[in-house]
Amino acid sequence: MGYRGYNEYNILGGMYMIVGHGIDAQIISQVSAVAERRPGFVDVILTPAERAVYDARKGKHRQEFLAGRFSIKEAYSKAIGTGIGSQAHWQDIEILPNDSGQPIMVKHPKQDKVTVHISISHTGDTVHSSVILEEMSASSTKISNQQDIASQAIISTRRPAWIEISENAIQKNIAVIRELTGAHHFIAIVKANAYGHGMAQVLTAAKHANVDGFGVATIDEGIWLRQYGILEPIFILGVTPVTYVDDLVKYQLIPVVTSEAWLNAAVNKLSSQASLVISIGVDTGMGRIGIRHHDELQRVVEKINQTDQLILKGIGMHFATADEKDEAYYQKQVQTWHELVDDLPLPQHIWYHLANSATALWHEQPSRDAIRVGAAMYGFNPSGKEMLASQLTPALTLKAELVHVKQAEAGASISYGATYQTKQPEWIGTLPLGYADGYARQLQGMYGLLPDGRHVEIIGRIAMDQLMVRLPEEMPIGTVITLIGKAGDEEITLVDLAERLNTIPYEIATSLSTRLPRKLVK
Ligand SMILES: *Cc1c(COP(=O)(O)O)cnc(C)c1O
Repeated sequence: MGYRGYNEYNILGGMYMIVGHGIDAQIISQVSAVAERRPGFVDVILTPAERAVYDARKGKHRQEFLAGRFSIKEAYSKAIGTGIGSQAHWQDIEILPNDSGQPIMVKHPKQDKVTVHISISHTGDTVHSSVILEEMSASSTKISNQQDIASQAIISTRRPAWIEISENAIQKNIAVIRELTGAHHFIAIVKANAYGHGMAQVLTAAKHANVDGFGVATIDEGIWLRQYGILEPIFILGVTPVTYVDDLVKYQLIPVVTSEAWLNAAVNKLSSQASLVISIGVDTGMGRIGIRHHDELQRVVEKINQTDQLILKGIGMHFATADEKDEAYYQKQVQTWHELVDDLPLPQHIWYHLANSATALWHEQPSRDAIRVGAAMYGFNPSGKEMLASQLTPALTLKAELVHVKQAEAGASISYGATYQTKQPEWIGTLPLGYADGYARQLQGMYGLLPDGRHVEIIGRIAMDQLMVRLPEEMPIGTVITLIGKAGDEEITLVDLAERLNTIPYEIATSLSTRLPRKLVK
């Protein structure tokens, strides 16, 4: 009756812990004798609500009810270990019948801390009762924190596999690009965890280089930057759903206006005192987002000029082929820009931002006002190897330490699929990183660098979290292998890996998982 077996709770997750158990037995006829002898006894034992039930019952049922309440309150007081009188008084505990007539503990002193299971039964003239108190165990306290935990990434700090970001390299690259373009405003593009380099590390380096603004892909990235303490203008490069206009205002993020419809919807959502800072996106041939027609642009600019709550911070476009040798399409986009924008009644002092890295490195721009630079700031060539970008210094190094070293006998197989077999006794080292860290499985056969620059080939399949290299000799555990970056006179770049994987360095960098700790170094 009203008691759920402990095992049942175990099945529910094994997270409850019994913290008290009390039993009691009372002779029904003796309890009713006391009640008859001492007027007022019933009102000492029963709460008013219980008294009402008592009054409604007749004869034997009434006696059982009183003895049952008496007994269960005794059992409860034993379960909390004090007895009636100090922490639990008769009136503090209330047990009422539920809809099916079973006794339910509706009130008791430890209500907020424990779950109570009660059991009452009669045998002849005796009522037996039992009370079990259960508390959520430590592991289930965590359940209530689970919501908080779920929204956080697992932070890796205790791993002998990591990324180093060079502050000097980032600052030098920013200086090189500034010098090359003469741009007035340098917008550092830090979308996608700063191109996989690590948001906090890159922000620190870029702030020290006094960049003028930041560019992100999504509103959440922008909010992260604000919460991190960034005060400079933050441009959101992708479309922000107007649903989030309040957050744009709250965090002073700059969305891109990609259509008249977007602007009207955003204005409708804007609360009366709020002002929204915006940038206009013009599509001159990238074919992704932005306004393509002069008349729509004109209406958008008029609306902005007439609406006090809208503050225009900038206008920009994006080049599709700035990383290619053939200039024809680039020039076509430049011409379209002039046709669409030159005669617009734009306010003064807004930022004209047209250039990405490739444009900044290799092209004369229609405007030198502001540049949006990602790849070149991180020091990798946006064109792969198609065009020269020798002034840039790669900022990212990927390293791991040998965690296991063994000599395998001739003919031993290494890793999944047994695809590699030693031809002679070979020294094999294991590195604690794999494709889940962004070191692609298809890089089997690639090599890493020993501290002196010698190559160590990656042999056997690359696993999710580990890979093996062939060592030239026995080496101590803890030997550092460089998988991206310089060692001795040798260097492996993002571009090298991209060529091997038939992709672009951007994809290699942004694939590097957050599971790899990032460290900012000089
Ligand atoms: C990502 C991005 C950039 C930066 O490009 P890089 O080639 O890394 O310099 C600039 N502008 C827009 C709109 C982007 O999406």
